[in-house]
Amino acid sequence: MTTCLLCEQPDETGSMLCVGCTKATEVRVQSLPALYQGLAPFLRPAGSVGQGRSGKGGPAPLPVNEDVLDLRGPGGIVGVAERWLADVRRDRGHAVATPSGGVEARLQAAVTGLLANMPWIAVSWPAAGYFAKDIRDLVDSLRTIIAPTPAVARGQRVGTCPAIDPSGTICGAVLHLAPGEKAIVCPWCTCSYPPYVWAQLKTWIDEDTKAHSAA
Ligand SMILES: [Zn+2]
Ligand SMILES: [Zn+2]
Repeated sequence: MTTCLLCEQPDETGSMLCVGCTKATEVRVQSLPALYQGLAPFLRPAGSVGQGRSGKGGPAPLPVNEDVLDLRGPGGIVGVAERWLADVRRDRGHAVATPSGGVEARLQAAVTGLLANMPWIAVSWPAAGYFAKDIRDLVDSLRTIIAPTPAVARGQRVGTCPAIDPSGTICGAVLHLAPGEKAIVCPWCTCSYPPYVWAQLKTWIDEDTKAHSAA
């Protein structure tokens, strides 16, 4: 009997990862190429489509989303997958291959390599827990970016701040997306709401409005 290094439940098979966590980790590894592609539309911030060449004194071109750029770059998703595969190969005494080709081809190769080693990782690798947690964190953060966000125009009144202070009072200050800002910041309590929580923010606001009109 061992304890699964990911969910920390007892595992009767004596493995490093239990059957459920092994399967979940496999699914997460398999989903990496699709998540990589799913990030592409998020390279540019919303509303930047159709920017012409900006001449002297014109508006500065909107920057690309640097977090997304990093995740899609050589050190991002593909770097994480390749580092883990290199660790696995080293610990198994296998030759570590030098990745070649474009980022997408490298990512696919790393995913294939990791999946081929999953049975050994799950049963025998002492680092299986760190690996499984790292992959889970990576996939969670990618899903957070890709999750649909409601369109919010610059300067638009988004609703009222749903933050709750230690005494249980809802902040209620009016929220706007200020020009030039990437996140909505509450002018009163300074709570910051980045784009990936806007969908959730809208839900909170709708709930508060409903509760208010029912009262
Ligand atoms: Zn488990
Ligand atoms: Zn607030």
